[in-house]
Amino acid sequence: MSLTLVNHTRFIQSRKLPKQVKLVEVGPRDGLQNQPIAVSVKDKVAFIDCLSNCGFKAIETGSLVSPQRMPQMAGSDSVYQQIDQHEDTEYIMLVANQKGLESAMACQLKNIAVFCAATDAFSLNNIHCSVNESMDIIQSICQQAKANNIAIRGYISCVLGCPYQGEVDLNRISQLAAKLYEYGCYEISLGDTIGVGTPGMVIELLTAVSQTIPIDNIAVHFHDTYGQALANVLAALQFGIQTVDCSVSGLGGCPYAPGASGNVASEDVVYMLNGLGIKTGIDLDKLLSTSWFIDDILDRQPSAKVSLAIASKQKM
Ligand code: MG
Repeated sequence: MSLTLVNHTRFIQSRKLPKQVKLVEVGPRDGLQNQPIAVSVKDKVAFIDCLSNCGFKAIETGSLVSPQRMPQMAGSDSVYQQIDQHEDTEYIMLVANQKGLESAMACQLKNIAVFCAATDAFSLNNIHCSVNESMDIIQSICQQAKANNIAIRGYISCVLGCPYQGEVDLNRISQLAAKLYEYGCYEISLGDTIGVGTPGMVIELLTAVSQTIPIDNIAVHFHDTYGQALANVLAALQFGIQTVDCSVSGLGGCPYAPGASGNVASEDVVYMLNGLGIKTGIDLDKLLSTSWFIDDILDRQPSAKVSLAIASKQKM
């Protein structure tokens, strides 16, 4: 064993870090949904196939919403039918209502995601109903999904801050997580939608939520608006979280959360976890190629630090 590896192992043991982490790639949905350019079905299929080949075992593939409401997500059902589905990979589609669920069943989806917000203010602005009203819709979606053997992932947004009312109530978030778990969600992803959280807040949040649902069923979803996302990921891992959402090239944002920048970049997370000796199963070289591929299509400058660093090294 090399000296470096000994140090990694000691760091992991002393900080109780997990040996393995599951990364949920959200770029094709959460990422592309917030880009000014709508990507064609053909390019989305190529993008998702690349991500499957990188080694992701869970990929948010699209959203079954009205194309009038979300033009970037148009054709998500065709995308799902055309991608090369790896047997051991979850291809997750966001479903917001009964119509979306019916499309999911028509496409024979195996995985869907449902979402609610931590505050009424955000919920009313985002989906035009209160949190309790959205939970009633979610309950009905979950009942039908379970009856059709569709696995359900749950999201709670704005868990560390709301763009409309500022502070959020941790008890309320814990209760929402407990309800989603009770409705049958196998994983509840806690989203810092506007990226205002810092590591101490992450620990407070996880302490509260892990009192109502098992820690193994909690995932974290950070945005990098204030440059805190990687630090927040590390704090969550030290708390015992083993599932982290990330988006290739840091694609993302939130149209209802002014100023929110992208999700934590997948390549930055993979680089950090590689450095810590934590297994992800992701091939970093393939991930970087995928990142450059999608940035090219979007005519966008790479923003992930690892992507920028390695691209400039290659030019030297
Ligand atoms: Mg996000």
